Amino acid sequence: MFENESLYTFYKLGQVKKECSICGADFNPEPGFYFGAAYVSWGLTVALWVSVLVALKTFDWWGWIEFGFLTHPLTFLLTGFSISILLFPYMFQLSRSMWASWFVSARTGE
Ligand SMILES: [Zn+2]
Repeated sequence: MFENESLYTFYKLGQVKKECSICGADFNPEPGFYFGAAYVSWGLTVALWVSVLVALKTFDWWGWIEFGFLTHPLTFLLTGFSISILLFPYMFQLSRSMWASWFVSARTGE
């Protein structure tokens, strides 16, 4: 559904095609349609940070690293930000796809 299929070139990253190449559904039903995708993005980001925290806690528990939320806050912040930046293009497109999957309906015969 995106004009640019490769994630890390950033050119037209959020550019959505006019319509679905398979069913012809309108990907841009109204101006500002993808504004709501920001809320999806927010939810995904929260989920990501929670995952980072759980992962760090697990590595600490396994004895791979030394990590405590209050004793090593910088480890948590740096890991969280690095992963957020790395995954940004993916999360950006994912939130738009999710939004479209919920609110764009396939074009029927009408
Ligand atoms: Zn379709």
